[in-house]
Amino acid sequence: MRFVDEFRDPALASRLLARIRARARHPLRLMEFCGGHTHAILRYGIRQMLPETVQTLSGPGCPVCVTANRDLDYAVALAAQRDVIVATFGDMIRVPGSNGSLQETKARGGDVRIVYSTLDALQIAKANPAKRVVFLGVGFETTAPTVAASILQAEAEGIDNYLVFCAHKLTPPATRAILDAGEVRLAGVIGPGHVTTIIGAEAWAFLPREYGMSCAVAGFEPLDILRAIDLLVEMAEEGRAEVANAYGRGVTPQGNRVAQEMLARVFCVADADWRGLGIVPASGLQLREEYARYDAARVLPVDPGPTREHRGCRCGDVLRGALLPPDCPLFRHACTPAHPVGPCMVSAEGACAAYYLYGGEIA
Ligand code: SF4
Repeated sequence: MRFVDEFRDPALASRLLARIRARARHPLRLMEFCGGHTHAILRYGIRQMLPETVQTLSGPGCPVCVTANRDLDYAVALAAQRDVIVATFGDMIRVPGSNGSLQETKARGGDVRIVYSTLDALQIAKANPAKRVVFLGVGFETTAPTVAASILQAEAEGIDNYLVFCAHKLTPPATRAILDAGEVRLAGVIGPGHVTTIIGAEAWAFLPREYGMSCAVAGFEPLDILRAIDLLVEMAEEGRAEVANAYGRGVTPQGNRVAQEMLARVFCVADADWRGLGIVPASGLQLREEYARYDAARVLPVDPGPTREHRGCRCGDVLRGALLPPDCPLFRHACTPAHPVGPCMVSAEGACAAYYLYGGEIA
């Protein structure tokens, strides 16, 4: 298949792997921020093919997984309201919160709808003028511009029953939080490709500048990831710390200015609550005052009650890179994709789901 096969070429992959094996003389622990990378690394067997000196750890780059229980509980409480329709992307519906999941609330009569874009949610709002339609704004810098665009469109079309629950999060501050905590020692970061198409590779310059750590931005095909690892190994062995772009077909140094301007127009930066990290300063987005009428949290202040974490679930540790999914006692026993205990087993970008699906527990 054109444009895909080129990035899955076995001969090129073998050459890159041979170069990585030859170069990686010292132990090197790398974190892939993005859950999409975790899935690709395990799906294509990259983790198993790397030399023993190179270890990859998954990070907090799954938006569904890092959504705090309190936010999920709010969404569940909203879905139980008679005059509210909750619209969400698919994975979120199965994540168990303190009082069950959105799927369970739907089974009890709540109106929860899976949408494939914010435009679908706007259409639902137009078709149901007597109800409030709340779109769950869960995602990183990649998703947030489409949500900003939906609010601007709602304003332009006068759709006043469309609301957004804004749980958007920013990736560089979360990376900082992990590094500042000092819980995991890293030699480099595989930068999130999709996020970086928006924020630009220069957004990661703080890693070499402030932490003496390299970052290689990667796409999601095997050769993209191997090339990023190859660059990180090369920089580490040569004692250099820089930002490298191994995803040049999508990422520029400055990123997508149009998307950045749209984000700045609709949102402002705020503290955010991350599963596994807690409150991280300036790591989230909230709607600006001038768009407060579209902010579900302000328009529909529902109390979800006390928050409970799932007993035994180690998703927080997994999201900080402090635990490999197979080391969670519930992995494959009490927790499977069919019966997930935590979000990391639910989401298509969840690390536990990746290890479950692709046998990544084999070190
Ligand atoms: S295996 Fe299940 S319970 Fe354990 S950390 Fe992963 S999602 Fe949570």
